Formats: sequence, C-alpha cells, structure tokens
Amino acid sequence: MLRVDGLRTEFTTDQGPVTPVDGVGFTVAAGETLCLVGESGSGKSVSALSIMGLLAGNGRVTEGSVMFEGQDLAGLPEPELRRIRGHAIAMIFQEPMTSLNPVLTIGDQLAETMILHLGLTKAEARQRAIELLEKVGIPRAGAVVDDHPHRLSGGMRQRVMIAMALSCRPKLIIADEPTTALDVTIQAQILRLMRELSAETGTATIFITHDLGVVAEMADRVAVMYAGQVVEETDVYTLFDQPKHPYTVALLKSIPHITTPAGDRLTPISGSVPSLLHLPTGCRFRERCPHAMDRCATELPELRPLGGGVGEGEHSVRCWLYDETGTAVPA
Ligand code: SF4
Ligand code: MG
Repeated sequence: MLRVDGLRTEFTTDQGPVTPVDGVGFTVAAGETLCLVGESGSGKSVSALSIMGLLAGNGRVTEGSVMFEGQDLAGLPEPELRRIRGHAIAMIFQEPMTSLNPVLTIGDQLAETMILHLGLTKAEARQRAIELLEKVGIPRAGAVVDDHPHRLSGGMRQRVMIAMALSCRPKLIIADEPTTALDVTIQAQILRLMRELSAETGTATIFITHDLGVVAEMADRVAVMYAGQVVEETDVYTLFDQPKHPYTVALLKSIPHITTPAGDRLTPISGSVPSLLHLPTGCRFRERCPHAMDRCATELPELRPLGGGVGEGEHSVRCWLYDETGTAVPA
C-alpha cells in the first residue's frame, strides 16, 4: 500500500541546513499497523509530515520516494496532495484542540470533509457524523454532534479526531502520538478502539510513538528511528524477541518491568540523541553504543536486510555488527 524509500528531508535554519529525515524507508501493507518508534528528535514526526506533504515552509523533501498505491506522492503538486490527504490518507495528531476548529460544532466539522470528499448532502453528512461518533464510542452522539470542541474532555476530543480520520474511509491513517497527552486508562481505551477499527475497516496505519508499551500493544511491524534514520525494521515479535541493533536493545532494556526488583527499574540509555547540526561521523549511535568498533567511526552503515533479502517480511538492521546473514561479526 505504502512504500517509502530513501526519504530525505532538509530544513533551512539560522544555524545552517539540517536533515531531520535522512534515508528513511519502510513499507506498510493494507490492514497492517507499522509503528515508528524512537526518542523525541529522531525524525518520526517529520517523516510523517514529509509523507503527507505537510512540511513547514523551511522544509522540503530533497530525495526519495513515497509510493502510495502506485503513485509517488513526493513528486505530486499540492492540489493533488490535498485531495489525497482529505480522502485516501488521514492524519491524527497528539493535540486534538489544534486540529479542531473551536468555532464550528463537531457535526459541522465532520460533515465538512464528507460533503467535500464524498459528495454527501448536508443531511446525509449529519446522519453519518452521528453514526461515526457512535462508532468511536461517544455517548449521546446525537447531542454531541451539536457541541463545540471545548465542551469535550481530551479523550472525547481524540475520539472525535478518530471519527474525522475515518469519515472519508481512508486507506491509510497516520497517527502521531495520538494518546500521549491522555491518562493511562483513556489511552488504553483509545488504543483498543483504534485496533478494533483498523481490523474492521482494513485500514493501514502508521502509528508514531516513543513508548514501547504502545508498540507492543499496536504494532504488526516496527521501524526504530534514531537521529533521522531507520536503524531496525521488523515484525513486532522479532523486535521484542530478537532485537539486533544496539539502540533497540538499549530501548528495550529501558522499559520498566513489573517483575524487575525495586531499585533496578530502569536502565536508561546514557547520553542523548546527537544534534542534527553536529552529527558524528560514521554510525550516528556510536557515541552511545557499547559495541562501537573502529569502522563505526568512519563508515555509516546501510539499513540491510538480514538473511539474504528475500522480500518484505524482512528484518533489516543498520549496524556493522551483523553480516548479510544476520550473524554477529567479530570486532
Ligand atoms: Fe554500534 Fe557500530 Fe552498530 Fe553503530 S554500527 S550501532 S556504533 S556497533
Ligand atoms: Mg513528534
């Protein structure tokens, strides 16, 4: 459904050009959820905005392709992109208040896109808006449809955003930390809802998160991002069971386990993501990597499929520790 290859996005800043997305690639199949996971500043959100053609004025995609149903979105003019965004691809952001119009009722906002993209009449759109609100579990949908966004709680607003995303029956939903601002119970409800809806509708999802607990809950496949690059991509079971990249290994160690003795809860990764203005030579993780070798200081590893490259159900890693067969090579 979606295949992103060698995506590179550049921003001009006062201190010079930066490349927050530098060679990002992954695939998402119909009905599948791909989680993009990494620390803040790893390029997850900019990747999503690049795919959607929603970069701020000082950013642009300089390389790569975004193949969506046989069409390269990276080369499309804005009017066509806008049509695809409203229709085939929908986006859900962390803070619904910034995406909802405070002066319009929930129903009018839902109806607007359906009138525009599905050609429904006003009455049809209102009826469908109520159905959608019911579908995302909003009680008293027939009344909420006439409410303004500020009358709803954060969790309810996020449900409205999901209803809006679903309103045009998209093939792909990109959700950027949609539950991060919500408390744990509400977060669990929203995640469950999103899982149920994607199973029911067959919609593909790119789910952006910094939280490996959310990954375990949501993902079919996972792309781990570090400093603007995908460093590991695989299915969710392999990721938790046989992580290969030292960064993935470190991330997994940093999750608190209920069974871990008190006082030994977290093994945080020391150091921080390098500044995009001062990237190290060679591997971008090497200053934090316990396995760094001489080669890592001079050569940037490619994202390579392990096991000979037999197709898309692959496990790919960007690290000199492994040869083409996924075997650890001696330092
Ligand atoms: Fe560590 Fe080298 Fe692998 Fe980078 S390439 S993650 S520095 S072992
Ligand atoms: Mg972000």
